[in-house]
Amino acid sequence: MMDWSSWQWPVVLSACADCGVGTITLGEFYMVRRQIWEKAWAGRRRPWTHLPGQEILCIGCLEARIGRTLTRSDFSDVPVNDINDGSYRSDRLRDRLIRKAKRKTIVRATRRTAPAPPAAA
Ligand SMILES: [Zn+2]
Repeated sequence: MMDWSSWQWPVVLSACADCGVGTITLGEFYMVRRQIWEKAWAGRRRPWTHLPGQEILCIGCLEARIGRTLTRSDFSDVPVNDINDGSYRSDRLRDRLIRKAKRKTIVRATRRTAPAPPAAA
């Protein structure tokens, strides 16, 4: 007979909140900057979201939420994002951790200088 006194419910700490994929198994364990994370979760938090393992997203679902591809400047400067630490990472996470942000074309209004006045005669 099973001794139920020692039973513990499994604690799932790595399932993506949107697609359910196991992010640790997938090799997508990372930290992004606060502003990116807040944008992804804006208006989506539920009363249980603060519990362990409830606020996790795989790279694909995070990108879907923010509407663009992540680049290296979106990731926090923390050891878990160190691509050279030997940990297994998915191809797309590796790609994002080294991907440079596309330069936005900055259109500056150039002040035109008035032509030099004719030299006094
Ligand atoms: Zn996902």
